[in-house]
Formats: sequence, C-alpha cells, structure tokens
Amino acid sequence: MTTRDERREALKAVYEQALGCTRCPHLAETRTRVVFGAGNADADLMFVGEAPGANEDREGVPFVGQAGKLLDKLLVEIGLERGDVFIANVLKCRPPGNRDPAPAEIENCREYLLAQVELIEPRVICTLGNFATRLLRDDPTGISRVHGQPEVLALGSRAVRLYPIYHPAAALYTPSMLDTLREDFARLPALLAEPAPTQFDGADAADPRPRAGDEAAVEDLVPMADPAQTGDSASIGDLAPTADRASIGDLAPTADRAPIGDLAAPTGAGVASGSHPDADAAQPSPDQLGLF
Ligand code: URA
Repeated sequence: MTTRDERREALKAVYEQALGCTRCPHLAETRTRVVFGAGNADADLMFVGEAPGANEDREGVPFVGQAGKLLDKLLVEIGLERGDVFIANVLKCRPPGNRDPAPAEIENCREYLLAQVELIEPRVICTLGNFATRLLRDDPTGISRVHGQPEVLALGSRAVRLYPIYHPAAALYTPSMLDTLREDFARLPALLAEPAPTQFDGADAADPRPRAGDEAAVEDLVPMADPAQTGDSASIGDLAPTADRASIGDLAPTADRAPIGDLAAPTGAGVASGSHPDADAAQPSPDQLGLF
C-alpha cells in the first residue's frame, strides 16, 4: 500500500472499524461517540493526547474543550492551525468520569493509533503527557523527565521523530508548566524542518530495541479478546500509574485553581464546522474529520 489515495481509503476503513469497536465492552457501552481523531490526514505533524473527555465524547472530535483551546492557541503561536496537523488520542473512547485509561484499554486501542501512524505517515509525533509518551516510547519514564527531547524511533513499520511535551490540560492550571509547554512548542517548526527520518526496510539497524507496535499492522485490526475481561494486560504493565505521573484527572479545576488566560470560556468548536451537534446526532463523517 503506497499511494496517498490507498492510504486514505485504508484510514477511512480503520475509522469505520473503530466506530463499531467493542474491544472494551464497558467503554463501548458508555461512549456517546468514538473519537477517532481529526485534522489533516496528510499532516507532517501528529499530536497524540490521552483520551476523549466529556466534550469530545459529545462531538466525536478530539480536543474541543479547554485543553483544546490551549492547543489551538499554541499552534497559532507557531504559525499553524488544526487543519495543518492531525490530532488523535491513545484511547478512542471516553473513560467514564474521565478516569485514567486502564492498561487493558490502552492495549486494546493501540492498534488503531499505530494504524493511524502508518496511514498518515507523520514525520513528527508530539505526545501530549504521560500516557501517549509512555505508550509510544514503550518506556515508563515520566513526561517531566523526557519532555522537549526529540528522538527518532520506530512505530510499527514507520520511523518517526517523537517529541514528548506536557499535556495542555496539565498546563492549564500550572503557569510554570505552561511556560515549559510553550518553550517546547516553539521548537516544533525547527523539528518539522529537519529531514524526514530514514524509513527502515524491515529491521531497524540504527535501533535494535524491541519497538512499540512491532507486531501490529493495519491488517491486524481484527476483533480480539478483551484483556479487560481476560485479565491479560501484562504486556503494558509498565504503563501502570507511577509516582511521577501527573495525571490529568488530578488536574481538574478546583476553586483555588483557575484556568489561565482566556481559556475558561465554554467551548464547542468542531474542527470542520464549528457547530455543536446534538448529542444524538451521528458520528462526524470522514470528511468532517479530514479523512477525505
Ligand atoms: N481531549 C482529548 O481529546 N484528549 C485529551 O487527552 C484531553 C482532552
């Protein structure tokens, strides 16, 4: 599969598959929408967040709440907008009550994300916060240790430049973190200007480490047993909470923690139309998500 059109058709097929996904039966039951991802499916830059929240679940579009407003603002500051990038999440369904993604859920959803990487072919992937960073680095090191440090690694069959940064939701309520996030963001244009990572042909000679998603391919997206039910989540046991993880759930607004700047306003802007669909409206079409 090589042409852009073929990749686009395959990406739409993956979206259709995700819409019917029941790998995590509880998430499938409680979600309003599958939040597949949105933006420019030819983008050089892809962002990977954690999981949909209430706003995203309602609209079927990632990052439409306050964290999304901050993301939009940071993008504008480096001369980009949503239509220039693709935004996805580790989980495509909202964990009820915005709890942390469970290891089994991350494992269940991993192939969708790897398929997106394979079919969009971004040069730079910016992981937002701990969950995306740990998953795609295949390493439990926390975001506070690795943010702002790009590295070339293999995701499935793709070599990408991975660039971990703080999650915008974490930065919303912590001014020092916002400063750091902004500094890290400012390096993105230079990263995008670097030559695309050399693609591997088979094994990666430069980095012999086992790679996240080695075994995953688009064709592998077939129904599989639900680890949440079988209890089989050992392969991503290292993604379990650790002491240095700044969980987004921990950063929910409280009376003494006001959001920064003008980001407090309620939001509802979808990527394509800026409209706020009714809760019982259909999923966004592939066109609305940029998958055309
Ligand atoms: N919205 C998303 O889509 N993902 C996050 O990680 C947070 C908010």
